Amino acid sequence: MTTPYSCRALYVHVPFCRTLCGYCDFYSEVLRTEAVGPLVDALLRELDGYAARRTLAFDTIYVGGGTPTVLPPGQLGRLLGGVRAYADAGEQLEFTVEANPATVTDEVAGVLAGAGVNRVSLGAQSFEPAELRVLERRHRPEQVGETVAICQRFGIQRISLDLIFGIPGQTLASWRRSLEAALALRPEHVSTYGLTYEAETPLRRQRDAGVVTPVDPDLEADMYELALDMMPAAGLAHYEVSNFARAGAECRHNLRYWHNEPYVGLGPAAAGFVDEVRYKNVADTAAYVQAIAAGRSPWGEHEQLPPERRARETAMLELRLASGIDRGRFTERYGVDPTRLFAEAVERHGAAGLLSVDADGIRLTRAGFLVADTVIADFL
Ligand code: SF4
Repeated sequence: MTTPYSCRALYVHVPFCRTLCGYCDFYSEVLRTEAVGPLVDALLRELDGYAARRTLAFDTIYVGGGTPTVLPPGQLGRLLGGVRAYADAGEQLEFTVEANPATVTDEVAGVLAGAGVNRVSLGAQSFEPAELRVLERRHRPEQVGETVAICQRFGIQRISLDLIFGIPGQTLASWRRSLEAALALRPEHVSTYGLTYEAETPLRRQRDAGVVTPVDPDLEADMYELALDMMPAAGLAHYEVSNFARAGAECRHNLRYWHNEPYVGLGPAAAGFVDEVRYKNVADTAAYVQAIAAGRSPWGEHEQLPPERRARETAMLELRLASGIDRGRFTERYGVDPTRLFAEAVERHGAAGLLSVDADGIRLTRAGFLVADTVIADFL
């Protein structure tokens, strides 16, 4: 028996990259061509498994990783066509694929466009060669624009660029140049992330060994504030801690995460949230493929969320948004006004000028966005 439309969002994790970047803690490995066919088989079979138990009609699909565009074009087309078959949104479909500069050839762009992909999220990260070297990114700055041009020539107009600030050696001036270079390509969406030194990464080890020096926290805050000033001035409104978009070009798929709505996640290490269960697949491509082939669940961990925990998670996620927590919507979903559920945190951070509260909602102020993680943690 199926339940109608329990999920409108799909995430697919492709765990392969051409090379690995020293700061990355996503589950990814260097591309092994012989492993791609079995992986695509497994991804499509995992999706069929979800479809067997409920009606799927995705109106947002996000294929990330890893670097999906390093897959051989034939396999990439098979994967994208297979997931597209479960979309039901017509012109409204938001179909995003993550890519890195220099991985989108004409052939790959043709495969993306042919499958209905209408949005590409491109890992530009920096337009400064020395900073790209620190990050162990292999592309040259000019390849960002070349890749954007290829996508657009194949009709994919919706471009998002990822940028990183706080890179060792980066200055406010060089960050400004990267922001300007990104804006010159007229993307509809830009994400700016502060560099983090994740455990077990080569960059973390370099930092711990004194090989690289993190930028000063005050400088990093200035970099964030520069993005908060420059993006809106160029027509990209700040709509989430790290994200900016032209009006109507916000990432609808990611908005689903931030509103804590259900989504199916496929692939090794992918997370999902279905039927009130949050799950994470095993972070091991071979184990994932074997589990699917044997008809076993690929979940490595899962957890049924009690209602109050879900309410708290929703508050944390929605606080990331400039629109904040909608008090009416929250009260309707969880039966309690968020100013009551989080009375102490709202009072304290409100008094410190980090939160603004009115009849409609609870939102981070600009000062609050600068310490967003600290404020948001108090809501869990
Ligand atoms: S390309 Fe992206 S996913 Fe792959 S290693 Fe680099 S940062 Fe990680």
